[in-house]
Amino acid sequence: MKALVYDGPGQRVWRDVPQPSLREPTDAVVRVDAVTICGTDLHILKGDVPTVQSGRILGHEAVGTIVEVGAAVTTVRPGDRVLVSCISACGRCRYCRVAAYGQCLGGGGWILGHLIDGTQAEYVRVPFADTSTHHLPDAVSSEAALMLADILPTSYEVGVRNGNVAPGDTVVVVGAGPIGLAAISTAQLYSPSQIIAIDLAQSRLDAAKQFGADVTIGAGQDAAEVVGELTGGLGADVAIEAVGVPETFELCAKLVRAGGHVANVGVHGKPATLHLEDLWIRNVTITTGLVDTSSTPTLLRMLAAGRLDTTRFITHRFALAEMEAAYQAFSHPNDTGALKVVLARP
Ligand code: NAD
Ligand code: ZN
Repeated sequence: MKALVYDGPGQRVWRDVPQPSLREPTDAVVRVDAVTICGTDLHILKGDVPTVQSGRILGHEAVGTIVEVGAAVTTVRPGDRVLVSCISACGRCRYCRVAAYGQCLGGGGWILGHLIDGTQAEYVRVPFADTSTHHLPDAVSSEAALMLADILPTSYEVGVRNGNVAPGDTVVVVGAGPIGLAAISTAQLYSPSQIIAIDLAQSRLDAAKQFGADVTIGAGQDAAEVVGELTGGLGADVAIEAVGVPETFELCAKLVRAGGHVANVGVHGKPATLHLEDLWIRNVTITTGLVDTSSTPTLLRMLAAGRLDTTRFITHRFALAEMEAAYQAFSHPNDTGALKVVLARP
């Protein structure tokens, strides 16, 4: 079969590799029907995630069809159409028992396209298939469901829920990439009074408006001044960090009101300064998190009921074999306007 293989920093190639097979009785082999690329894959290709070894097949998001299951798998069968979650879950460890699957101690967590071969391939081996895949109802298209493999649960859990977004709130989202836009989408489930999006790229701010931001703040504008004006001098109830660089974390800490929440979603490669000398007196709550995907069943029900539109994230569509072109489009969003790309089996 063909797969997108990471051959060390800066090196990716769509090439022939052996087809995966069952290794554990809890595994399933899934035929990939639709797959996408994540900003994290670009981080890996830059060499920012040293735990990924050369030769690894990338990808942690897919919708596919079960081909084969191990003897211990009881809830999915060959032929079933499933969402393959970016987080695998043993289902038994201390963390899995409280639905904190991202922290799984039993061999799960973020492993696909990281510690084991991933989904940017014609077939993928999915460990703990019972607790790491989700049956898809007929009403949900594969490409709509694909957005629930990572970006929607991440923004909803680590941004909106950790940030404690409540009715009437002023929510600031710093970074309007797919993650920030998904935070803007899911924050609206709680009826905030205003959503303010901050980004340096005008194309991303335009997208933020389309996804429901009321106000946008771009390069060259003083974000603290604008947020101050819009909140009677108080600051935001919730500031969601969706970039992953020190300046944006520090900006969130500056924009939040006393008693408010800073929810960090971005993956950071460098230390950021925590200004405790300003924050200690302001009752600010700061949260961090890796997605658990515990909200995926809820989001799937909303998708099936037409309460959530995820296809609007998809700006580019390719055949699976056009992996290189898809990476090109996805990695140059300023030229292509790419948000999420979908590669599908014809
Ligand atoms: P992205 O690169 O597509 O979007 C980031 C956006 O931030 C871009 O639109 C960019 O223009 C903007 N930006 C860059 N520097 C800025 C600055 N100084 N001020 C304002 N805006 C700035 O990334 P994405 O796919 O949307 O992901 C966002 C972050 O979330 C990444 O760090 C990603 O790794 C992380 N992530 C975290 C989790 C988790 O579980 N915590 C899961 C998935 C992704
Ligand atoms: Zn576990």
